[in-house]
Amino acid sequence: MHPFTYTRVDDVDAAVAAVTTDAVARAVQVPEDAAFIAGGTTQLDLMRDGVWSPGTLVDISRLPLADVEVEDGDGDDGTVLVVGAAVTMADLARHAAVAGLDVLRDSLLLAASPQLRAMATIGGNVLQRTRCRYFRDPTVSQCNKREPGSGCAAVEGTARMHAVLGVDAGCIALHASDLAVALVALDARVRLHGPDGVRTLPVADLHVRADDDPARDNVLTPGELVTHLEIPVPDARTGYLKVRDRASYEFALTSAAVVARVEDGVLAHVAIGLGGVGSVPWRATRAEEVLRGRPASLALFEEAAAAELADAFTLPGTDFKPELARRTLVRQLRDVTEVTA
Ligand code: SF4
Repeated sequence: MHPFTYTRVDDVDAAVAAVTTDAVARAVQVPEDAAFIAGGTTQLDLMRDGVWSPGTLVDISRLPLADVEVEDGDGDDGTVLVVGAAVTMADLARHAAVAGLDVLRDSLLLAASPQLRAMATIGGNVLQRTRCRYFRDPTVSQCNKREPGSGCAAVEGTARMHAVLGVDAGCIALHASDLAVALVALDARVRLHGPDGVRTLPVADLHVRADDDPARDNVLTPGELVTHLEIPVPDARTGYLKVRDRASYEFALTSAAVVARVEDGVLAHVAIGLGGVGSVPWRATRAEEVLRGRPASLALFEEAAAAELADAFTLPGTDFKPELARRTLVRQLRDVTEVTA
């Protein structure tokens, strides 16, 4: 592991300043070389593996961002959960405000292990880097995410745990967060605090697709810190289904987060996130367009799932995924709506 400078901050402004001030810039040559760290469950692995070598780590684990507030929303939002980015996955999963929100609770409890959920923060979870084995092996020279223009070893190698949506031959990296898949289905927003102030954007707009720019994971600008998630509580039924090789401590082969409300047999509201298939937490807008405002039926669910996966980019290792994803989505639409024919 390369040597690095460590500093701990106690408030958000100090955190942002710590990765953007001249003092830190001088210490580490370039400001981008400084990075935030909280739970560290992914970052320390990357540092140990020699994949990532920040000059300065700014420890934000003691920032006052560990609360869950229940607020009245604006406009169409009813209740909104405002969740500090330093809340751990375990604490959010057992919070009373999440008890009736199955899609959120299950996306947390079906992820990682109890030990990791006790350490990992929700801010870090949604910003986690890809698990691509070639990206995480510095002896592999072909990786457009690490070295733009070098190629993609996964396209020629074993690619079972890779993406089929939002990818091309330049990078097929999967975004592995379960939580983020639930968040896009819930129309959640992320609140950012940076050198130019505070801004809020949909979680669905936070990540960058691999087929747009494999080298870039998200749209954060240098020094920007995720401070909160804003999660509207929908007037709808919700659920999260995760399909994986073993029953615990495993990433999704496919998953589906569904938020739906059926009125008089018609899908009055539907929002879908797909996991295990996208280079970003995948909002299934094509499927939603097929479903919205139409009488709920298994045939309609099949039509919607097929539309969403129609343009999947597959390789020999991932060619099972579109069919598995279609079945996962149909099953979860059926379970959430309780439509069986
Ligand atoms: Fe690198 Fe992306 Fe290819 Fe993995 S899939 S080796 S992250 S370019």
